[in-house]
Formats: sequence, C-alpha cells, structure tokens
Amino acid sequence: MNFDIGIDVGGTKVLAGVVDSQGKIVEKIRRETPIEGGSALTSVISEMANELKGKYEVAGIGVCSAGFFAPDRRSIIANPNIANWNGVELANDLESRIGRPVVLENDANAAAWGERQFGAGGQANELVMLTIGTGLGGGLITDGKIFRGSRGAAAEFGHMRAVPEGHLCGCGLRGCYEQYASGTALMRHAREAISASPDLSRSLLARGNGTVDGVTGEHLTSAAKDGDPVAVAAFNTTGHWIGALVATLEAALDPAKVVIGGGVIAAGEILLKPIRESMSQLSLFRGRRSAPELVAATLGNDAGLIGVANLARH
Ligand SMILES: [Zn+2]
Repeated sequence: MNFDIGIDVGGTKVLAGVVDSQGKIVEKIRRETPIEGGSALTSVISEMANELKGKYEVAGIGVCSAGFFAPDRRSIIANPNIANWNGVELANDLESRIGRPVVLENDANAAAWGERQFGAGGQANELVMLTIGTGLGGGLITDGKIFRGSRGAAAEFGHMRAVPEGHLCGCGLRGCYEQYASGTALMRHAREAISASPDLSRSLLARGNGTVDGVTGEHLTSAAKDGDPVAVAAFNTTGHWIGALVATLEAALDPAKVVIGGGVIAAGEILLKPIRESMSQLSLFRGRRSAPELVAATLGNDAGLIGVANLARH
C-alpha cells in the first residue's frame, strides 16, 4: 500500500487528499463543512475518504482540525470552529465506516509535521512553526517528534500573553499574541496606520473601494510589495510582534528552525525582515549564539493535509 489519505477539516471547507510516501498529493477533493457540524460532518469525512479509497491503495487516514484532542488522539475534546463535535469519538466512528486505521491531530501540529518532513523544515529535530492566518497557530517538534504536552494541548503559542490587559481574544483571555501577531492584527495595524496618515494612504485605499473597510489582506500584500509606506508599516508592526514571540520561544525552546506559514507569509521578505529585526533586539544570548533559521513555509494550505497523511504512517 503506497498511499495515505490526509483530511483537513476547516470551519468552512473540508479538504481530502491522497498523499504518497514522499508527501506528494496525487488527488485532492473538497466539500463544504456542514453548518450543523456533528454527525453530518463525520459523514462527509467518511464519504470523502471512501471515495478516494475506492481509487487508490490506501493504508491509513489522518484527520486534522483546529482545537484539541484527547491525549490518545481518538476523540475530540474541543473544537472552536465546528458545532456539535466536542466529545465525539471520531477515530472509532471513522474506522468503522472506512475500514482503515485513523489518526487525529491538531491542524497546526499537522502543518508543522508536514513542513518538517517535506517542506521548509528540512527534517529539523527542533522546530517551531507559526501558522499565521486569521489567528495564530503554533506547532512544536522536539527530538524529531510532535510535542503535544500532557493533555494534548501544547504549543498554543498564539494564546501566550503579550500585553497585560490588552485586546480581548477569542479564547476569552486578554492580550494574547494572536491579537497582535496574526492576519486579523495585520488588518488592525493597517487601519491604525491609515488613520494616522490619511494623506499617505490614498493609493492604498484606492486598491479597494476607497474606504478603510474595503482594504483586504491581498491589497495590503500587493501594496507592500510595491513599496507603499502605509502597507509596509502595517507589516512592520505585525512582524515586530511576531519577532517578539519568536524571541520568547527561542529562550524557552532553542529551536534550529522557525517556520512561518499561513496566509500572511504571502508577503515573504516584507514580513520576515521585521521579524528578524525584532528577534535580533529581543533574543537571549544574541551575539553569543546564532539565531535560529527563520524560513517561509513552502507547502501553503496543503501543509496540514500532507502532514496528517504522513502521521497516519507513523
Ligand atoms: Zn487568546
């Protein structure tokens, strides 16, 4: 059997792919996530897996999503994006419907594993990955394995506190890094830069419908690549916060590589440069030890799917 299936369950869509031993996706299908979640979603996942299983020699199935799973990775403890799925014995249910072994994994962990095995991580044994999209997901590899903690919920770096009594976070706490170092934060930093420099912001606003609310992440990225000072300022602010988080993680974990993924990394060096600047100011022992290698993720939105398919082999 040469293939495994990776399934990435998001709040709006489910992606399922057949993946070979080298991390290559040979076929990928997509369905909408049922709004009612729960057993309807479990049915969608098993239908997708069975469709692909009918066409390829499939050994195992890996399923990843946000939230956290029981330490034995057989059931869901809590998922922030999907209704009626908390406490579900998902692995047993799927195994009986698909007839193959099933592993479950947090999506940020799966992405870190995918990048480590086949992407920018270069097989590093000590690796931190930050997945920076709407939120800020964390994944940690130590000693060549995913570090999950004692209750399956480690590496939630986005919910470490950056600012005492800072912005309220979706997790219920205040001042989490996710509120300062995410795609959502980038948009807030852009709105702040626009209101601070309305004259300088005209060309950025003109990329959308002329209002602050019309500016999207894509507008910001393309404007920053063209050297727009307001867009660059928003990336600089966001990058400096990410760098502050990386410096903190470096003090705790001393990783060889730090992989930055998620939609925000489409800006490439425009984001990496302020991260590096901030790391060089804030890292412990800088000047006496080299910085961890900071790299952009290379697997894009497929990192979780590829990673969790590979975990089904281990
Ligand atoms: Zn939080």
